[in-house]
Amino acid sequence: MNIQKNQIFKVKITDMGADGAGIGHLEPERKGDVQAGYTLFVKDAVIGDLVRARIVKAKKGYAFARLEEIVTPSPDRVRPACPYARQCGGCQLQALSYEKQLEFKDRKVKNNLIRIGGFDGDFLEQIMEKPVGMEHPFRYRNKAQIPIGTGKDGRLTAGFYAGRTHTIIENRDCLLGVPENKEILDILLDFCEENGVSAYDETSGRGLLRHVLIRKGFSTRQIMVCPVINGKALPKEEALADRLFAKIPGMTGFLINSNTEMTNVIMGERTRLVRGRDCIEDTIGGLTFSVSPHSFYQVNPAQTEKIYSQALSWAQLTGRETVWDLYCGIGTISLFLAQRAKAVYGVEAVPQAIEDARKNAQKNGISNAHFYVGEAEEVLPRMFEQEGISADVIVVDPPRKGCMEACLSTMLRMRPERIVYVSCDSATLARDLKVLTEGGYELVRGRVFDNFGQSVHVECVIMMQYCGKEKKK
Ligand code: SAH
Repeated sequence: MNIQKNQIFKVKITDMGADGAGIGHLEPERKGDVQAGYTLFVKDAVIGDLVRARIVKAKKGYAFARLEEIVTPSPDRVRPACPYARQCGGCQLQALSYEKQLEFKDRKVKNNLIRIGGFDGDFLEQIMEKPVGMEHPFRYRNKAQIPIGTGKDGRLTAGFYAGRTHTIIENRDCLLGVPENKEILDILLDFCEENGVSAYDETSGRGLLRHVLIRKGFSTRQIMVCPVINGKALPKEEALADRLFAKIPGMTGFLINSNTEMTNVIMGERTRLVRGRDCIEDTIGGLTFSVSPHSFYQVNPAQTEKIYSQALSWAQLTGRETVWDLYCGIGTISLFLAQRAKAVYGVEAVPQAIEDARKNAQKNGISNAHFYVGEAEEVLPRMFEQEGISADVIVVDPPRKGCMEACLSTMLRMRPERIVYVSCDSATLARDLKVLTEGGYELVRGRVFDNFGQSVHVECVIMMQYCGKEKKK
């Protein structure tokens, strides 16, 4: 019998997929007509649940199913702290105990290293250290980008996109963000209502207010508010600034970003300062960083400090090394490394981030860190071929898509003693480590860090050493 849409099966959830959906395998039916081992992906079910699930979309060996009923809840199931956890989809793991979330993430990384990277499971068990979890897995994000829409009653709403749609569900107080987000949204939206500001509508391309970017420096308590608008200005910006600065403690900068393109990209290119300063500051591990609205800055400062310390310790610097920090952002890792290296060279694609990086070096009295704007896969080969640069250690911290081939092959030609890879996507990490292993590097150490509690995302740090044993592809 083929599995059909709307059929209901009882299934034990034994695993969770990369997107957080529960995975269960059908038992052979007593009647003998269901394919044994047929896999169901059940959204909102967690490992250990016994559930009844309704088939939504059936394929040859697997189907997507909807959770109909939890027959026996998993011992690791917890009540989500956020009432919108299921609707929102931003926190795919909120119904799983934090301890099990960590186990899930550790396993996810190892599975990718095995499946995509070709590493041996027993070997990974030996070299991977215990995952590093968060002490407080809520309210940890220092940045929020909140979409604004129009509710059924015609009033402005702020919240999150429901599922895969672009309908906004009102929630001004996401539990991953700081409590100030809600206060700021209340002030801003009231002000916009009073002044006839409409929300941007994606289909027609009309309306003014699109998103609100809020950043907070956790150690300095400085706050930046930056509405993204489909136009040049908001009415009575000065009066709005007055309100924000009067009511929000720590208010440091009020800026307006213009994005008049019909695109999914949140920020436009132009940002204008209305009041205060155009950057906020934060400190990590004794270093002070200035962050501008366009720059990447790690969203979870408490865990970031642990990650940077790990990267630094695995870099094993003595003060004599030349180090390259690729995808350096505002120079955070670079400046950590510079304190123990002869020289550090950072490369980053976003010009504003490099401006921040240079300022940050100066601010911290660090003179042996140098920064280049450009894509790593372009800058590194060019510098290697034209300037004959060298590296004792290379640190990379790429975005989810990982490193480009040209970047990896240049790293191999530069042949640093060690490579430290900080990754936010273990699938591309595994792919890249395979290339580096084939090029003569061996995996020495690895560790998972949970930067994104409640979500399926996971950060990982890996250290590789040159061993000269090139493997065949
Ligand atoms: N190491 C930094 C930033 C890591 S995020 C930190 O910990 O804060 C990745 C960074 O890579 C972002 O700043 C992004 O702008 C940058 N980036 C993306 N693609 C790039 C490329 N091809 N070359 C160089 N930098 C890139």
